[in-house]
Amino acid sequence: MDKAAEEPEQQALFGWADTEPGQTPPQAFRDSPQARRMLDVREVYAEPAALDSPRGRQIMARLPDARVTEVPSHWNIPALHGNDGNIGRWVRIKTETLVLGVKHSLATRPNGRSADWIAPGPSNGCAMACAYCYVPRRKGFANPITLFTNIEAIVAHVRRHVRAQGPKTEPNQCDPEAWVYDIGENGDCSVDALVSDNTADLIAAFRGLPTAKASFATKFVNPDLLALDPQGRTRVRFSVMPADDARLLDIRTSPVDERIAAAADFVDAGYEVHFNLSPVVLRPGWQRDWADLLTHLDDVLPARVKAQAAAEVIMLTHNQALHEVNLGWHPRAEDVLWQPEAQETKRSQNGALNVRYSLEIKQQSLARVRQLIATHAPWLRVRYAF
Ligand code: SF4
Repeated sequence: MDKAAEEPEQQALFGWADTEPGQTPPQAFRDSPQARRMLDVREVYAEPAALDSPRGRQIMARLPDARVTEVPSHWNIPALHGNDGNIGRWVRIKTETLVLGVKHSLATRPNGRSADWIAPGPSNGCAMACAYCYVPRRKGFANPITLFTNIEAIVAHVRRHVRAQGPKTEPNQCDPEAWVYDIGENGDCSVDALVSDNTADLIAAFRGLPTAKASFATKFVNPDLLALDPQGRTRVRFSVMPADDARLLDIRTSPVDERIAAAADFVDAGYEVHFNLSPVVLRPGWQRDWADLLTHLDDVLPARVKAQAAAEVIMLTHNQALHEVNLGWHPRAEDVLWQPEAQETKRSQNGALNVRYSLEIKQQSLARVRQLIATHAPWLRVRYAF
């Protein structure tokens, strides 16, 4: 039997293989009951300028029954932000509440690890509730999605920044040819796309920027993204981890198997698809379970996905404040996330006490993950391990 005949032919997850690029799929996923389980917006807190903007009006037109409260700033909404009193209801807050704001400081920051640049994101906050998430560090764990409605300004800023760089002349770990811009540092662009076209607008902008590429990590499979025709200028990084870890830690996300099963559809729709092996959480049996996950990737992904895939490997980091919050709603997660005997603490510039595996343990573990990849998924190039 030749190699091609042995290749697994992954079933298209959504059965839209025949959808032409740019065509709207038969029914928008965001109108489906599954989408509403993730986001069923009943309450909107909005800055007046955000409500008045074209994007704000477009979002609100789809939410005719939502109660609207005007707020002076998306940064400080006492009923939503902080952790006190919200622990018991933050999944509800994340499901039913949306914040609309205007992003005033538009800055692109250098990164050099996962991406060359961190673009000003079109949102912050998230409807999902991963127990290790660093996104809530500034607004508190309950923070729902804040969408920035001045998307034209964000896109114009990014376009100017890309053009100012000129072509990338030296390949690096981010990409051999394109300047890579992370557009989803503080949220999940796939979930944002359930309620706004901000993600679509950024993908469309990068389609016209041949020297650059958008990139975002996601834990949610949103089939509506398949119709956005990225023409290779957007990299989706599906985060994966062993299923037992995900069930415990990745609260409200798409199951890991679904993220993996979506990869071929996304490649066929014109995305570059990479994988974030993250976070790697050290606990009894972790090596066996990562080996199983890598074997699964090798078994189910077709050659066309493997040929373009690459991975980031990111060891868990945690922090004391989040540890204490998690003890109030999901203490079982802390059994694996909080391991003082293996972790060291470091006070960050903003005063937070961050926790990460000690250097020696981290280096040994990263070397082990690389070995497991070489053994079970040798086609998976490691772009960056940290
Ligand atoms: S999906 Fe990402 S942004 Fe959302 S809660 Fe999980 S780690 Fe945080």
